[in-house]
Amino acid sequence: MKIECIRTHHLRHRLDEPFGFSQWTYDTRNALLVEILADGGIAGWGECYGPAEVNQAAVAGFYAPRLLGKDPAQIDVLWHEMWRASLDFARGGVMMGAISGIDMALWDLKGKALGCSVSGLMGGRYHESVPCYATGMYFKKLPEDALIEALAREATGYRDQGYRALKIKVGKNVAFDLRLIETIRDALPEMTLMADANHAYDLPEAIRVGKALDEARFAWFEEPLSPEHPELHRALHEKVDLAIASGECEQTRFGFQRLLGPGGVQIAQPDLAYCGGPSEALKIRAVASSHGVNVIPHVWGTMLNLAAATHLLAASYREPGRAEMPAPWLEYDRTPNALRDEIFETSVRIDDGSARVPPGPGLGVLPDRSAMTAFQVHQTEVR
Ligand code: MG
Repeated sequence: MKIECIRTHHLRHRLDEPFGFSQWTYDTRNALLVEILADGGIAGWGECYGPAEVNQAAVAGFYAPRLLGKDPAQIDVLWHEMWRASLDFARGGVMMGAISGIDMALWDLKGKALGCSVSGLMGGRYHESVPCYATGMYFKKLPEDALIEALAREATGYRDQGYRALKIKVGKNVAFDLRLIETIRDALPEMTLMADANHAYDLPEAIRVGKALDEARFAWFEEPLSPEHPELHRALHEKVDLAIASGECEQTRFGFQRLLGPGGVQIAQPDLAYCGGPSEALKIRAVASSHGVNVIPHVWGTMLNLAAATHLLAASYREPGRAEMPAPWLEYDRTPNALRDEIFETSVRIDDGSARVPPGPGLGVLPDRSAMTAFQVHQTEVR
């Protein structure tokens, strides 16, 4: 096989109602899809997490011309060619987001060429379905009392839809966060709960909120602190009982070695559309395993990233391993997402709060070109 053409599709959807978290408020969703075509007409699809315009320039202007004519099945070889081509000035960041989307498309393409799923290519499946946790409870423009009420209503709604776990946002302000944690636990006494601060706290704040999360029996505390300070995670870990999760802002096996090395993070959360793609996620999993840590991917964006994470979780052994291991949770964002839910002709099937591994070859999900046109901002083609 040879790579004949690489296309990118920048898609945008303006949200009816903005939603916020500790860092900013979203009023639009953007996605960059990467489509790689091989001779014989097989197409592989991937997506990049990060600013779509910049990812698009990196894929179309820098990496795509270097890949034309190469064998798309040599995924690891191509990954390292891309890595070395930009290593001197971009060991991470948006250039790695661009590599991630290309890498994801190559896994999809190779699976389709061989008639094999991505989880099959990754070594085989431990699970045919994975339980989802609902990500939601984003902040809205409401007075704080009304907001807490609305978030508790949203959370109980997910329980009623069959989800057994959910994740709230914290990091607005400590007083609000402490009230929210208590309210959500009171509303859902039996549910598995997680909290995500998106690196909003300094260490004393993180300890205070972490102790409240312990008290309320939360399962993990996500991005309590800046990813720039792995050693502060260790200091927090020594003060609280619940697991500390981090990694959605981190990339490559080298970045995760720095994050996990001090021993403060117990759940590693690479995003397959940003960390370096499925290829690098497998290497990150090996690094995490060597620290006794499990990988639970961060999932945002379209159906492609959701499918990639589902395959990785289905194909992942769990540390430390035992007959009754807890389920590997899949992150399922419940905010309005037309770029995931309205532009795919085949999707990851989710029933009763569990995602079935897509049965088709490759990622097993397929964009619908005619549905994409309504969201198209800018398309490129390199051949
Ligand atoms: Mg997060």
